[in-house]
Amino acid sequence: MGDGMNSKGDLMLAWAADDLIREEGESGGAVTAMLRFALADGMVDAVLGVKKGADIFDARPILITDPDEVIETAGAVYGGTLLLSKFFGKYLNAAKDLKIAAALKGCDVMGVYEQAKRKQVNLDNVLMIGLNCGGATTPAMMRRIMSEVFEVDPESVIKEGMYKGHLHITYDGQRKDISIPKLEDAGYGRRSNCRRCKIKIPRQADLACGQWGVKEEMVGKATFVEVCSQRGALLIDRASKAGALITKVADASCIKARKRREEATLALADKWRARDFLPLSSSKERLKTIIEETSRCIKCYTCVEVCPALFNTTKPYITAFPGKVPPELGFHLLRYSHVADSCIDCGQCEELCPMDIPNALFMHAIEADLEELYGYHAGEDMSLPAVSITEEPR
Ligand code: SF4
Ligand code: SF4
Ligand code: SF4
Repeated sequence: MGDGMNSKGDLMLAWAADDLIREEGESGGAVTAMLRFALADGMVDAVLGVKKGADIFDARPILITDPDEVIETAGAVYGGTLLLSKFFGKYLNAAKDLKIAAALKGCDVMGVYEQAKRKQVNLDNVLMIGLNCGGATTPAMMRRIMSEVFEVDPESVIKEGMYKGHLHITYDGQRKDISIPKLEDAGYGRRSNCRRCKIKIPRQADLACGQWGVKEEMVGKATFVEVCSQRGALLIDRASKAGALITKVADASCIKARKRREEATLALADKWRARDFLPLSSSKERLKTIIEETSRCIKCYTCVEVCPALFNTTKPYITAFPGKVPPELGFHLLRYSHVADSCIDCGQCEELCPMDIPNALFMHAIEADLEELYGYHAGEDMSLPAVSITEEPR
């Protein structure tokens, strides 16, 4: 591609020019190379990403200001279930005075939009490098899969990855893999919200990057990139011209293969939505299940703290229901009324609930109904919700 200007809608294969980044990166290091370039070139002041934590199943957020440290974010962490959306408001002064390039999966990007509507992120200052995502698995589940399904000591696993609908592992110099549908039918696998997720290619970011559409012989060596905004196009242009990134126009067979993969994943998500929502389809059953499940609530406020479709404070919840554990149903209904049609099904309120209450499932079921009724799609752009409250009640 090299000389010509890129523009929104371009589809290409890309990889890092730097040998080390190419080696460390998941798919030729294109994302790492772009993040590094954006920082080194002064397009941004910092990079927000995720790096491996205590082990290969653990993900940690990291904010980087030294270009040489960006390589720490290279490679994917499939056990990483972090959501970065609220970091902007909580720790980065809503990106008001700092330009940030962030590597974000679909739910992160959707959450960033919902936070922007609540004035917790200044979108003008966030360069979003979207990562295609087939789903995340909790670190605890990853360990169970290693020991119970693969019958391998989790500590001996040096690499895991998802490719063509299979989970692959490398351990003690050997490899194993299993089909993800087979794994999930056996009760293992991705978080339930991820199974229902339909933002697999985050086109509302500036770039959408992933491995779908990359030909067999190039897997691991190149990233398929869709340019989703002029800002994304500018980054590709500048990084290519500076010699940090190598790009090649995607051919028709790559584009077709990627589309097929996306369609298959969306069909699978529809299947999971139908399966998960069925027991909640009558309003009486839904309410009964919610009452039963939420009766375990210890009012820790985690579901409020983590939700990207809520404001950056727990104040209305603390002041409305003081001193009662478990709280009345109204505690949960208040959250539903604040989130309602804005839930992006990121799963945080469920995964982090200490009482294992399926909060995301309930909220997503409500959101899906409201989406049908009002036609509002949470997390897609800056349009305001029809039902949810975007400003903190005084
Ligand atoms: Fe990926 Fe969607 Fe799950 Fe987020 S909710 S981790 S984008 S599958
Ligand atoms: Fe209750 Fe769970 Fe929310 Fe904590 S995270 S307030 S226990 S529903
Ligand atoms: Fe995510 Fe739960 Fe908030 Fe929905 S309600 S956006 S699943 S934290």
